[in-house]
Amino acid sequence: MDILAICVTVGGVALMGLTLWFFFGKRRVSLPKVDGALYSCPMHPWITSKDPTADCSICGMKLVRAEGADN
Ligand SMILES: [Zn+2]
Repeated sequence: MDILAICVTVGGVALMGLTLWFFFGKRRVSLPKVDGALYSCPMHPWITSKDPTADCSICGMKLVRAEGADN
């Protein structure tokens, strides 16, 4: 006799989860993942960018992550 209430509850939770997944999933896809790492060209280290998908403006090479570049 409570099957309808259970169905409504489960359906509501599922719908809420789907909505959250939709918004957060879409937001994660639309925004590039930026974790503060710096990317630089192996041939031209002074060409740096925080965008992991960026290319070197001189040679067009894909920028690689500069590991532990403190100085
Ligand atoms: Zn380059």
